[in-house]
Amino acid sequence: GVSCNNSQETNSSGSINKGHSESIDSKVESLLDKMTLEEKIGQMNQYNGFWDVTGPSPSSGDAAKKYEHLKKGYVGSMLNVKGVKEVRAVQKIAVGETRLGIPLIIGFDVIHGYKTISPIPLAEAASWDLEAIQRSAQVAAKEAAAAGINWTFAPMVDISRDARWGRVMEGAGEDPFLGAKVGVARVKGFQGDDLSSPSTIAACAKHWAGYGFAEAGRDYNTADVGTSTLYNIIFPPFKAAANAGVRTFMNSFNELNGVPATGNVFLQRDILKGKWEYNGFVVSDWGSINEMMAHGYAKNKRHAAELSVNAGSDMDMESYAYVNELAELVRQGKVSETLIDDAVTRILRVKFELGLFDDPYKYCDEAREKEVTGNKEIQEAVLDMARKSIVLLKNENNLLPLKKEGQKIAIIGALANDKTSPLGSWRLAADDDTAVSVLEGMEQYSGNMLNYAKGADVALGETGFPFEVNINTTDKSEFNKAIAVAKDADVVIMVLGEHGFQSGEGRSRALLGLPGVQQELLEAVYQVNKNIVLVLNNGRPLVINWADKHIPAIVEAWQLGTQSGHAIAQVLYGDYNPSGKLPMTFPRSVGQVPIYYNYKNTGRPVIPAPNQVFWSHYIDESNTPLYPFGHGLSYTSFSYSNLKIDTISEGTFKVAVDLKNTGTVKGKEVVQLYIRDMIASVTRPIKELKGFELVSLKPNESKTVTFTLTEEELGFYNNEGKFVVEPGEFMVFVGGSSNTILEMGFELGSVNTKRNARI
Ligand code: BGC
Repeated sequence: GVSCNNSQETNSSGSINKGHSESIDSKVESLLDKMTLEEKIGQMNQYNGFWDVTGPSPSSGDAAKKYEHLKKGYVGSMLNVKGVKEVRAVQKIAVGETRLGIPLIIGFDVIHGYKTISPIPLAEAASWDLEAIQRSAQVAAKEAAAAGINWTFAPMVDISRDARWGRVMEGAGEDPFLGAKVGVARVKGFQGDDLSSPSTIAACAKHWAGYGFAEAGRDYNTADVGTSTLYNIIFPPFKAAANAGVRTFMNSFNELNGVPATGNVFLQRDILKGKWEYNGFVVSDWGSINEMMAHGYAKNKRHAAELSVNAGSDMDMESYAYVNELAELVRQGKVSETLIDDAVTRILRVKFELGLFDDPYKYCDEAREKEVTGNKEIQEAVLDMARKSIVLLKNENNLLPLKKEGQKIAIIGALANDKTSPLGSWRLAADDDTAVSVLEGMEQYSGNMLNYAKGADVALGETGFPFEVNINTTDKSEFNKAIAVAKDADVVIMVLGEHGFQSGEGRSRALLGLPGVQQELLEAVYQVNKNIVLVLNNGRPLVINWADKHIPAIVEAWQLGTQSGHAIAQVLYGDYNPSGKLPMTFPRSVGQVPIYYNYKNTGRPVIPAPNQVFWSHYIDESNTPLYPFGHGLSYTSFSYSNLKIDTISEGTFKVAVDLKNTGTVKGKEVVQLYIRDMIASVTRPIKELKGFELVSLKPNESKTVTFTLTEEELGFYNNEGKFVVEPGEFMVFVGGSSNTILEMGFELGSVNTKRNARI
């Protein structure tokens, strides 16, 4: 099992490679001494890969200007330069042609794999398997590093409670505890123990902060968040990433309580670099310095540059604001050179840690690129991750697993035969059509007779990156073929959901049902054959009430990446027993959003019969979700018993529970521990996840699972942003979802103030 309880890291320096840090600091200092103001500012400038870098040099336009800047040493970083040949070409200019020869740091959105694609991050979080998640990031780093990349803009650790927001696919869901664990696993996977290894890359915690709380789930929208939510829900995964040594942060497009994050002193200077003593650097989001003008916060580009650098944004991604405006701002005394030095120190430090000064071409080995890209080790890791990410939402009458022989199986839905959508959003280096489709997977794992019919498309036309509108098809001309195949089948597998680009950046949705005519298709097929297994491919929680009422088996398969079809077939045939649990609540209606398990009681929490209208509720919908956070079934069953709480010492408790596999096959269960602080000086959620353990058991086998609760788990941030632990009554809840099975109360007698202060 993977024990995930009680391990909030405590070092606050954010520094890895500790042995080298002193000598790195002195190297940075002596380099800084040699730099002109313009060269310093150059380090703070990041450009997108802007021309065919291996071709002739550009002679006009933007590209020519950027190229000039690169040659002068006015570019510190580039992003979206793909492949060793290209990276070598730009690095050669930076190292060979500039006065000081400072190497570039090469960034890329390695979000869930580079060329070989692992499940979307939300899916990976559904595994609750931190070792597998770390491994997935590790192989992604290896593949990206072999292609010249040394910095990823991941993990996204934004908590979100809004399935309308398309970028929930990129995060770990709604819970800060799980989100922090998953974020740390990813940071460790990308960065390894040694950043200077040519197989590891620098990570980036993003988007600092509040981006996942965009109003109405509309991407880039205003976030208006109270102090309690900010400190207790939004900040913790960022803090955990900082403590785990994540080398960079990215700020965000949104404004938070009236101040754009990019120009936000409170976020970047006071909290991150102040209170948390973070020593990595902060990159702006793409053009976010310029966007402060549209926000109505900066008068012009120069003003935007001033506000963002003073607020602590160290690197400008594609706003051309620093490179064009900063020197003049320093001369005018509006920006102090000390702040510039601080920003450059942070950036150079990471470059030294990556070993770029020892060998700027260490990420540029064509032979390694060839050998590593898509190799067996990587394919195995992404397949393993894909299986672990699948969540069995419903399985009536044990329809699943399917029999391997003698079955006539109909496979219906455009996504069943799609080799691109399973790659999901954010897979900029991967080629289309490189995923194993469900159809291909199913063919490999059985001798059954398979009949495929598309039924309906998911979306019309190309919906590629970035922001083209997704148009849902209304074409039902293929329904009849699908109905005919279904009629004739013993079991129907319907693969429905979202196109790979219907979630991701800029892909907010106001409706959360199956896009296009897929719902109609499902109902039409159901008329002729009720033995349906619904396999969902999607980048966010969907509203699937009808399916839940009528369809006997539902499998949440998200977008599982390159190995998708293999993983799905192995689960459908029972070669792999699913153990995933939802990292995000599935609503019954869009009107319930934001809906999340760790809500707070109102003053009217229960139904005061007979006047039911007075409790906090809807008159046309239940308060409960369709599937709660933490939900997920298995082909076996588990029983929970014997919950016990023992006091270990003042402020430390041991919680024990017996778990038994009561079914007939071996399986894994994510045992979840929640607490509630009953009365506090700031109201607390009705449940908060504070521990989980992935336990593997054979039939009839039992295990006592234990958790330790300390003041770290029992405390919270008050409205002054101070971590406090308050004595009093607590409840503990344990089970296989946030709809827990067992509960017990205990009393926290007194508080160890020394320890309290340290947190
Ligand atoms: C996104 C970031 C991403 C950056 C670079 C922005 O639009 O918000 O998450 O890292 O682009 O591609």
